[in-house]
Amino acid sequence: MSKTLAIEGGSPAKTGPYTRLPRYGEEELKELREALEQGTLFYAQGKKVYALEEAFAEWVGAKHAVACSSGTASIHTALMAAGISPGDEVIVSPITDLGSVVPILFQGAVPVFADLDPRNYTMDPSSVEENIGPKTKAVLAVHLWGNTCDLDALKDICDRRGLILIEDCAQAWGATYKRRKAGTVGRIGCYSLNEFKHIACGDGGLVCTDDDVLARRLRLATDKGYNREAGAAIRNPTFLAANYRMSELQGAVAKAQLPKVDDIVARRRRWVGELMARTADFPNILPPIPTHGCDPSWWFYMFRAAPGCDADKIAEALQAEGIPVWAHYIGQCVYEYRLFTDHLAFEHGGHAYQARVYGKGIAPVAEDILRDAIILPLHEDFTDRDLDETVEAFIKVGNWEGAKRV
Ligand SMILES: *Cc1c(COP(=O)(O)O)cnc(C)c1O
Repeated sequence: MSKTLAIEGGSPAKTGPYTRLPRYGEEELKELREALEQGTLFYAQGKKVYALEEAFAEWVGAKHAVACSSGTASIHTALMAAGISPGDEVIVSPITDLGSVVPILFQGAVPVFADLDPRNYTMDPSSVEENIGPKTKAVLAVHLWGNTCDLDALKDICDRRGLILIEDCAQAWGATYKRRKAGTVGRIGCYSLNEFKHIACGDGGLVCTDDDVLARRLRLATDKGYNREAGAAIRNPTFLAANYRMSELQGAVAKAQLPKVDDIVARRRRWVGELMARTADFPNILPPIPTHGCDPSWWFYMFRAAPGCDADKIAEALQAEGIPVWAHYIGQCVYEYRLFTDHLAFEHGGHAYQARVYGKGIAPVAEDILRDAIILPLHEDFTDRDLDETVEAFIKVGNWEGAKRV
């Protein structure tokens, strides 16, 4: 006997709110107290940011790491260090946080949007290759939802075509690609510590690289070009840099958060693994398929309405069951924002991206993904009861005749 959907008058599958515990506690307080007791909150005079960088480099498996003020700053820092200059083109995903794309514009460079894989929602390597032109300098691989891009394919393209591969790992803490952590296949990996990522410090970022020269430039890029190495002439920068320094307060909290990330990811993997095993085969729902070689870290769970089904109806029916999903993720592709279609970056003066036409049709698969996408936010504290009730809701809505598009 199948149960009546809540949207049709039945009782909701979810009987209470999802479990979420406070993310900050005694460990963070202890680090913060120590930071304050140092008598300085400036990274170059303190210990917390440097300790975080060392611990992160070790955790991620890279030779160098540099902390900065946000995930957006981490990407801008990578682009500055890589020498991305006005008129250069950078290939990026049309489904991402604006923090991936804004730094490209700040460098005077032109974002070029590749299309995506329909089932894992990351950049399709063949579309990346098709979008390479004489001005292309870099590929920014966006690891959406904690699932890496096809990094072997992107690295191969970048190596063959002389491009710099940069990884946006803001949503991919703990994700691995062929046993390597996200951020260590490309030349530079970029992470975010904003309040909503796997681990957080309010706002913050980290970049990593194995390249000694790039590592030095990454540090300079976050610190106005000031060279604080012993014996160096501190002021006399050789390229344009920003102040994206991380403070000791952020460093202290991030240092306390880092040791928690593996457990956070493991718990998310277990919960989603169960969810997927129990909701694999419903006519209305297309679950995501992780990139081959990737063990994702599940920042959120994004699935698609099956062909002929309506994402809004499915989302509405799941919401009625008490499941806090929403349809269409970011609503429209980044290149459909007025910032791009109307070239609104600056009030006046020229910018290379004005010569490029942006708008609907650039990435048809990405547009289809957003039309069909439904997102279930995840948290590592979700319990077995949360799981059972979520599965019950998926069973009801996943088989519901009313989900069909009319
Ligand atoms: C969150 C996020 C960013 C930006 O990070 P902030 O710390 O918010 O600046 C960049 N890229 C992706 C994919 C993100 O999810």
